Amino acid sequence: MMGTSCSLTVFRRGDEQYIGECFDILSQIEDRISAKRSESEIGRINAAAGEHAVKVSRETFLLVERALEIRDLTEGAFDPLVGRLTALWNIGSGDEKVPSPEEISLLVAAMKRAEVVLDEKNSTVFITERDAALDLGAIGKGYASDVLAAYLSESGVRKAIINLGGNVYAVGSKGRGKLWNVGLRSPEGDGIFTTVSVEEGAVVTSGAYERYFISDGVMYHHILDPESGYPVDLDLVSVSILSRDGTLADALSTAVFVLGRERGTALLKRLDVRAVLLTKEGEIIRL
Ligand code: AMP
Ligand code: MG
Repeated sequence: MMGTSCSLTVFRRGDEQYIGECFDILSQIEDRISAKRSESEIGRINAAAGEHAVKVSRETFLLVERALEIRDLTEGAFDPLVGRLTALWNIGSGDEKVPSPEEISLLVAAMKRAEVVLDEKNSTVFITERDAALDLGAIGKGYASDVLAAYLSESGVRKAIINLGGNVYAVGSKGRGKLWNVGLRSPEGDGIFTTVSVEEGAVVTSGAYERYFISDGVMYHHILDPESGYPVDLDLVSVSILSRDGTLADALSTAVFVLGRERGTALLKRLDVRAVLLTKEGEIIRL
């Protein structure tokens, strides 16, 4: 699900009864927000870009609003309007090719011109440019983990681990003063390069190694610099964010990846958010 494999772990007998509902919730979220599905709410907003506003559910409306707030917070490093660019690159599809510089600059320009008009009262979203579109891929899994964590807590589940393709959310504390240890996957191979300890909450990782293709010896990965429209020039190879707010953690993992070591570290310090960064040289930075 959500373009990855997802797993849920509960620890108390009887709590497994909630797992089925969790997967139903995930599938509903995917049906609403996947940019790859033309019939999803995001798909319909994108299809109507430059033409008309689209009425969406309260949940989708609030998520788009939150995404735009985080765009401002990260000075545009996380930009949910990258949709036409991610569709053009189509990284991870299996038949990628490098787009022409003209195509890319046309879409970057449209993305810069575009505004997202939110009508709170009518719960509608309107993208003002035809060549701009929403892609919530950088925030969706963190958001989904928040929704599942809330559902499990409300159901009385005191301890659970949600893992949405490496976006981990520890629900409830481990107990007896113990912390959850989450391993961070090495960019190369199957092992981990370090672990982080959390009382509870999200540990969300972005890495270039997750999705990429190679053309003429050049690696093109899936995180785009909204300024250029090209995959970010690598200075960090893995970014993990720790926060009770999984939605924020997910967006920030992508944003810090784009910002790179210096600017990314400055942003995290300003926001007082914990993180583990792995540089290209293999240095581990803990904030
Ligand atoms: P993540 O794995 O959370 O870092 O999200 C990566 C996904 O977010 C990509 O596969 C794209 O769909 C989308 N994306 C790529 N670059 C950006 C960006 N600069 N801002 C927002 N979303 C992006
Ligand atoms: Mg992300």
